[in-house]
Amino acid sequence: MKTIEELTRPNIWKLKPYSSARDEYKGATASVFLDANENPYNTPHNRYPDPMQWELKSRLSQIKHVNPEHIFLGNGSDEAIDLVFRAFCEPGKDNVVAIDPTYGMYQVCAEVNDVEYRKVLLDEHFQFSAEKLLQATDEHTKLIFLCSPNNPTGNDLQRQEIETVLCRFEGLVVLDEAYNDFSEAPTFLSELEQHPNLIVLQTFSKAWGCAAIRLGMAFASQEIIGILNKIKYPYNVNQLTQQQAIAMLQKYYEIERWVKTLKEERGYLTEAFAKLPCVVKIYPTDANFFLAKVTDATAIYQYLVGEGIIVRNRHSVALCGNCLRVTVGTRVENNTLLEALKRYGG
Ligand SMILES: *Cc1c(COP(=O)(O)O)cnc(C)c1O
Repeated sequence: MKTIEELTRPNIWKLKPYSSARDEYKGATASVFLDANENPYNTPHNRYPDPMQWELKSRLSQIKHVNPEHIFLGNGSDEAIDLVFRAFCEPGKDNVVAIDPTYGMYQVCAEVNDVEYRKVLLDEHFQFSAEKLLQATDEHTKLIFLCSPNNPTGNDLQRQEIETVLCRFEGLVVLDEAYNDFSEAPTFLSELEQHPNLIVLQTFSKAWGCAAIRLGMAFASQEIIGILNKIKYPYNVNQLTQQQAIAMLQKYYEIERWVKTLKEERGYLTEAFAKLPCVVKIYPTDANFFLAKVTDATAIYQYLVGEGIIVRNRHSVALCGNCLRVTVGTRVENNTLLEALKRYGG
């Protein structure tokens, strides 16, 4: 692996970050705050939030078994994705490599940052070959994006291939585990020590049921996390979000129950789906959604919209011709979908 200094854009490496009033004071006991030009009235919303989210990170640390210094929190995983481009990829010069199809934000962020985005097609089982992925890299490849379970295909990527990429790639590997809670595969968080080039992304938006609060997590070496912290907006995670996240961490058991229910519901829904006349094939899934090949994805998508049911039409995505991506809902929602599709016929 190259050093983090070699991988970081020189301007970012040299950057001295903005130092906020709250950064400098760092939790010493004080009761009079006249340092940040806040309004003293309208408690508690008058105060700037903790820029480094220490309380939230320390609680997360206990659940994830990762030290707070190895955690970055952002305005959704999307912020972390954007920041890795801005930290490591020189516009117009560097490139990144990703599996295809996968989550659309990697390519959008690449394009916003004027960074070449190289796609390597998955095979017919939606798996990738480390060899093929590495062949697409060159000396300007800073990042490889992997997503497991993958969106929109739903399957876990093969662990051995991920390991091979981690061991052989000179740059950083961003492994998006947004759906790992729904999978039987262990997270890669326990491998952070072994692989200093690994960045694991997780989110509060899926299993945690908190898409509205916008909170994403990146886990990596202290050096990488330090760079992301240096370039983020000082108060990137607002106070309401930090509070709500702490409240969620205190009822961790609730998330475990949701996940268990959703996995059962996934079994129910996919089994019933497979029997529908308009369904050609269901792909195996390790997430809270599944991909189904249907007789005519666009026609069925439109029909469902007319019934007030929205699924995701993935027809135009590589390897996903005539595929719909369906999120697992409540039993009532799932039955509404199944009944509508029964009425659609073939
Ligand atoms: C939904 C999703 C996310 C979550 O993004 P947030 O910005 O945290 O809401 C991240 N990665 C993938 C692959 C997703 O499908």
